[in-house]
Amino acid sequence: MKPKKTEMPDKFKKKLNDEQKNIICDHGTESPFTGKWLYNKDKGVYVCAACGNPLFSSDAKYDSGTGWPSFFKVMNKKSVKLKEDNSMFMKRIEIICNKCGGHLGHVFPDGPMPSGERYCINSLALDFKKKK
Ligand code: FE
Repeated sequence: MKPKKTEMPDKFKKKLNDEQKNIICDHGTESPFTGKWLYNKDKGVYVCAACGNPLFSSDAKYDSGTGWPSFFKVMNKKSVKLKEDNSMFMKRIEIICNKCGGHLGHVFPDGPMPSGERYCINSLALDFKKKK
């Protein structure tokens, strides 16, 4: 079963290039170890590439070894929505931007304590606002 396409307002879609649309609107996954934010260690805030909604603090980023930017918690309650995703013959929890509905990645229960969560996010779905 192919996941349903993201319903997203055109004003957000316009900002995205084709690679980003493939992830954010068509629920794609970037190849591991290719994303531009994977090794970023700067302090700041990761925001949704489509709508700018603040999603993750750099303080919650860690190296999961999986090849995708990984975080152990979200920025705040308004950052994301979680949704069951049964595509690709797997049972996963999809992470969706709470503001624009864009697909960001998946959350897995094998993160570091105390949260025990791993928010596995596509770099292409993120912009980074460096702390000044
Ligand atoms: Fe968004």
